[in-house]
Amino acid sequence: MKAIRIHQFGGPEVMQLKNVPDPDPGPGQVLIHTRAIGVNPVETYFRAGMNPNLPLPYTPGSDAAGEVASIGLGVRTKAGTRVYTSGSVTGAYASMMICDAADVHPLPDNISFAEGAAVNTPCATAYRALFHRARALPGETVLIHGASGGVGTAAIQLARAAGLTIIGTAGSEKGEQLARELGAHHVLNHRSPGYLDDVMKITEGRGANIILEMLANVNLGKDLSILARNGRVIVIGSRGKVEIDPRELMMRDADIRAMMVFNTSPENKASIHAALGAALETETLKPVIGRELPLADAAQAHKLIMEPGAHGKIILIP
Ligand code: NAP
Repeated sequence: MKAIRIHQFGGPEVMQLKNVPDPDPGPGQVLIHTRAIGVNPVETYFRAGMNPNLPLPYTPGSDAAGEVASIGLGVRTKAGTRVYTSGSVTGAYASMMICDAADVHPLPDNISFAEGAAVNTPCATAYRALFHRARALPGETVLIHGASGGVGTAAIQLARAAGLTIIGTAGSEKGEQLARELGAHHVLNHRSPGYLDDVMKITEGRGANIILEMLANVNLGKDLSILARNGRVIVIGSRGKVEIDPRELMMRDADIRAMMVFNTSPENKASIHAALGAALETETLKPVIGRELPLADAAQAHKLIMEPGAHGKIILIP
């Protein structure tokens, strides 16, 4: 089979496409023919060496969609079943991979393999941020601060189906248009000076009940000043340090909560994927694919995902 292998941490060029032996599933495992692979920012951080304990060499990635090729002892699915994954034992950037059975979920017929590969990290993160961490309620207003990328596009759709009012931000005209088409009621550009003042106008001075924050190191200080009373900021993404004024929180009885999708308990993970499966079937959730590239171009995908101008997900095709 073909697989991207990383033998040393470094820039995108350390990802090399290799021929490696096909793996065999052990007890409780599933071998999957991958048809599409989701690229996430976290895979660039790990490739660059953010987790030095990661054993080398390795194949990156956890999110893919494809068909079951074979199963290990005790697994009940059957060969040919269309699935998407929420974790990988051998790494998703490959033409085949082994997963634990708990990380293999049915892919509804109305969802393509590329869309299926875009489900796990972005949609599970958006769901957990909105419903487990923020405890979002219908009628509340959510500011999706970074609505044009993988997590943001999923969050718009999930929040819209749950009856929230959505203010989404993007940094390009294309991203703004995408956020609007997906169901954001109001769209702002996070590169326009003073754009957050519009959140107060839109909410008639009350502020946002919830902020899903994709770049906390840039925005967290200002976020606190546009929160409603009892508001919650959920820190999803951050790439550095930031200064905040705790009085902004005190005045509003407000919370900063953070999350890491890897921290989801097995029970919550099963529940989140049950919800996502239903949303995919009914098409209240339809992952947005921005770009498809061949697996051999994984390095190019890692460069693109760190550039501004997000428009849904970047997918690799083995
Ligand atoms: P992505 O597809 O690359 O999208 C990045 C998003 O951030 C785009 O909407 C981008 O908008 C936006 N952005 C850029 N500058 C911004 C600014 N100044 N203010 C607000 N938003 C800004 O990435 P993703 O998969 O959606 O992930 C988003 C972030 O969350 C990443 O940092 C990622 O590492 C993190 N994340 C964390 C978890 C977790 O478990 N905590 C899980 C998944 C992702 P434009 O490109 O339009 O400017």
